[in-house]
Amino acid sequence: PVSGTPATAPAPTSNISVRRGEPLVVVEHVNKHFGDLHVLNDINTVVNRGEVVVVIGPSGSGKSTLCRAINRLETIDSGTITIDGERLPEEGKGLAKLRADVGMVFQSFNLFAHKTVLENVTLAPIRVKGVKRKDAEAKAMELLERVGVANQAKKLPAQLSGGQQQRVAIARSLAMTPKLILMDEPTSALDPEMINEVLDVMVGLADQGMTMIVVTHEMGFARKAADRVLFMADGRIVEEATPAEFFDHPKSDRAKDFLSKIL
Ligand code: ADP
Ligand code: MG
Repeated sequence: PVSGTPATAPAPTSNISVRRGEPLVVVEHVNKHFGDLHVLNDINTVVNRGEVVVVIGPSGSGKSTLCRAINRLETIDSGTITIDGERLPEEGKGLAKLRADVGMVFQSFNLFAHKTVLENVTLAPIRVKGVKRKDAEAKAMELLERVGVANQAKKLPAQLSGGQQQRVAIARSLAMTPKLILMDEPTSALDPEMINEVLDVMVGLADQGMTMIVVTHEMGFARKAADRVLFMADGRIVEEATPAEFFDHPKSDRAKDFLSKIL
């Protein structure tokens, strides 16, 4: 139903016409090599405010590298990435601000093992943003409530299940009130029975208008929550389409082959 609607905020580098908001992340002609490997090959895409973009593709296609480049955990060789109109800085203060604006959730949770759940969520707001402890804790409790683990606030991460830990990690990223959240296979390390509790939180965020870039092979999430799917292979974006278009009518042989293996 969306294709064919006139563009409200046309983006030069993307072929998707429906835009929920203004461009928030603009990736233009981005290239990255690891030695001889062309891991990001002329990547162009625009993510608008409030959009949920799911990135899928075979292992080694460059999905994590793209996420890491957007969060500046990885340098790029050429091209530009802008977030909310600001070009990504090379280093220095700008980088700290960028990291505050862009939440990141990893496959492996990456919580601070020796800090309580509550401390995990309050640490960055207190240290990076100078929020008062009392205010940081009040907000953290609200966020932990929202992801359903408020009753675990005093515990250490190891005392929680994987699903609970990942929900804490999501709360921690939300505590910085990011403009965008990047999630790199957030459910891949979880036991099957815990996947849905994390996906439910992600769907809730999407419903509330959070801008999200999510690397995942959870097709149910993609169909339910994604505005757009980017299919990557060999360092390129091979297809960019709505979930319905992509899953029901993949165009490239690469995508057809990939989907035949995972569906
Ligand atoms: P994906 O997340 O799609 O599985 P990645 O972005 O992690 O893919 O990796 C893409 C390719 O880049 C892989 O072949 C991987 O081995 C390689 N790669 C990733 N990080 C590095 C690195 N730091 N040094 C060298 N090669 C890397
Ligand atoms: Mg990866």
